[in-house]
Amino acid sequence: MSASIIDGKQLGAEIEEGLKSSVSKMTASSRAPHLVVVIVGKDPASFVYVRNKEKACKRIGIRSTRYDLPEDSNHDDLISLVRKLNDDPEVDGILIQSPLPSDFDEIGITEMIRPDKDVDGFHPVNLGRIVTGRTDGMLPCTPSGIMKMLEWTGESLKGKKALVIGRSRIVGMPAALLLAQRGIDATVTISHSKSEDLESLCRSSDILIAAVGKPDMVRKEWVKEGAIVIDVGINRVEVGGRIRLVGDVEEGASEYAKWITPVPGGVGPMTISMLMMNTVRAAEARMY
Ligand code: NAD
Repeated sequence: MSASIIDGKQLGAEIEEGLKSSVSKMTASSRAPHLVVVIVGKDPASFVYVRNKEKACKRIGIRSTRYDLPEDSNHDDLISLVRKLNDDPEVDGILIQSPLPSDFDEIGITEMIRPDKDVDGFHPVNLGRIVTGRTDGMLPCTPSGIMKMLEWTGESLKGKKALVIGRSRIVGMPAALLLAQRGIDATVTISHSKSEDLESLCRSSDILIAAVGKPDMVRKEWVKEGAIVIDVGINRVEVGGRIRLVGDVEEGASEYAKWITPVPGGVGPMTISMLMMNTVRAAEARMY
């Protein structure tokens, strides 16, 4: 068997196409949705991620503004900027690009963003809503992108065994909650750095979400025949003197899986499309 590809680039493009009409309606009747991205310091990967977000805004017609704070700015500079953006009626979404320099309290800053402008979906109010079964708010972008990809396969997840590898606040934990929600109804296991026997957990899972950041940590032969594999990991590895992007799942897993996401071109583009969706939703909630 060779797995069918869940093409995140294609699916993300379709989602963006759907957003364009809402954006042009809003722009005609009032103003374009407005996303503000803040970068602190000079992390080169952050600039690449932010550029991709800016390009997506441009494709859809969302206004984007970037604030570059120097490496030596302090916590108070960032707090006053967040306060200003919270109060600005012309700003719909605020995103503080991670990682912040090590002396910043990243979680504390996230908590200062107004929940209705928290387009990353990391504020405790937005994460907490998922626990209560509400999925109509600002959902964290990577987990909601994963759910869209699963939905796109048309496979029923009801009663299926899902394994989420990784329990981070931004990917693993919310993804597990979304899979277990009423209506999706997967039976979810979360594995993490202290879990034992990852191999058996993988071998018995119908749905496998790998979100760790370690290349090849899921061996291809661990994938259950017919499973759905969502590879969230983004790892830079050197192959023959060149840097390649690979996921957490060993190449060749498509021999076993029924559906699989590529890296790159899988979860990454979906994460950006979900950010665009959150921004449009945030703007609609403010304008209508
Ligand atoms: P993180 O470092 O915050 O979390 C990693 C998780 O992996 C932790 O919960 C840890 O307990 C778990 N872990 C570590 N070793 C393990 C092991 N041996 N077995 C099981 N679990 C183990 O990382 P993150 O922010 O959740 O990101 C994970 C990966 O996903 C990274 O490669 C990141 O680059 C990628 N990512 C991709 C996107 C995207 O849009 N494609 C978005 C966010 C993160």
